[in-house]
Amino acid sequence: MSDCIFCKIVAGEISAIKIYEDEKILAFLDINPVDPGHTLVVPKKHYENFSETPNEFLSAMMPVIDKISKAAMKATGAEGFNLALNNGKAAGQVVFHTHFHIMPRFPGDGHELWKGKPYAEGEMEEIADKIKENLR
Ligand code: AMP
Ligand code: ZN
Repeated sequence: MSDCIFCKIVAGEISAIKIYEDEKILAFLDINPVDPGHTLVVPKKHYENFSETPNEFLSAMMPVIDKISKAAMKATGAEGFNLALNNGKAAGQVVFHTHFHIMPRFPGDGHELWKGKPYAEGEMEEIADKIKENLR
């Protein structure tokens, strides 16, 4: 995709601090990190989001995420990490080229996760049934 910033990074047209690269995957540091070491892992081929990305690429990404997250924790002294993916505008996706965020985390770094809210009576079973119907 000609106007995609991550495709331009893959093509070397825009600079990035690369962490890892193989035939299918590229990982580089996020320019606006949640915490130092925040890394983005992207398929080298353009897919708009997770849902559009073939399993071939998704399954290649997980071992890379495992490897990088361990290395980032060692390198930064982080005690944990968040793995996140924003799928679609409603979920906060801003760059429409599939990417996982690996975010090293430190005790007391002040970042909060989203807060849950309880289901109404019967709602939980209803939504579970609907999701299961749509798995087919
Ligand atoms: P998302 O909201 O999941 O689409 O996140 C997009 C992420 O891409 C943000 O965390 C940005 O800081 C990051 N980002 C945008 N442009 C660049 C760039 N040129 N190099 C590295 N990270 C970038
Ligand atoms: Zn792209």
